[in-house]
Amino acid sequence: MINYTERIALLMEDICRRTPRLSFIDLREVLVFGRFGRSDAEGAFATCHCLTLPESEPGYYFWRDRDTGELTRRSEWFVTKSPEVRVANTRIKYLISFVLPRFCDQTLERSRKSDLYPADAPPWLAKLDTVIHELYHIDPDAAGIRKLIRADGTDSPRSHGPLFYEEVAEMVTSYLQSRPDPELFEFLNHDFDGLTARYDGVVATTFRNFPSFPQRYMQAVEMPPSEPAIRIEPMKPPTQPVLYTEDDLQMRQFTDQTSRRLTRKGAHRAA
Ligand SMILES: [Zn+2]
Repeated sequence: MINYTERIALLMEDICRRTPRLSFIDLREVLVFGRFGRSDAEGAFATCHCLTLPESEPGYYFWRDRDTGELTRRSEWFVTKSPEVRVANTRIKYLISFVLPRFCDQTLERSRKSDLYPADAPPWLAKLDTVIHELYHIDPDAAGIRKLIRADGTDSPRSHGPLFYEEVAEMVTSYLQSRPDPELFEFLNHDFDGLTARYDGVVATTFRNFPSFPQRYMQAVEMPPSEPAIRIEPMKPPTQPVLYTEDDLQMRQFTDQTSRRLTRKGAHRAA
């Protein structure tokens, strides 16, 4: 079976080596994982998730009486934090997720990216464009995501203007002109059915709490009481881990309709 996330990670290493604008990226601090998304459904192909956003300022939710507008109750004070992800003793700063099988079935046709490439560009270039696009979101100042971000640390489709897309297309073109080993991106030539037929299955690294993955969470904090007269609703404790390690990684096989866990022990470390 083809380990799709591993192939992407190897390709990313070569891209960062050959692309001056991405050469600052330390890929030991970047983890590639798979999410499920059908090809015939709308949605993202990939997302860059930042784990280095600072803890938020303390805040709380409150409820008002509809008629009088008076505060009736509030939540405990809380802060919003990123979970910690550690793999091989390295703190992961960015997660990049690829949505399978949807990503594999992406082509330049009917894509707004097609305007940025010559008419005879191969359709799979759309996938290389997405890989470089997500890497380009990694902020050289390590302050989050390049350009605007959502409060949860993911990138929003509105977070980049036309220039961002043009710069990505420039990097795609110069990467290919640098004469990389075509073996490294050959897997992008195939759509999901093609890969499944050729390799007898597509597997990817996921997190053990699949379909969940490390995401921002709220944690209650002690603060001096400010509204002693109103009722305080306790915060629910986080339902997902606040620390992830390599033991939380798990290989899953993806099909066009679903995904299932692979039980082979240590599978995520196998080449
Ligand atoms: Zn983006």
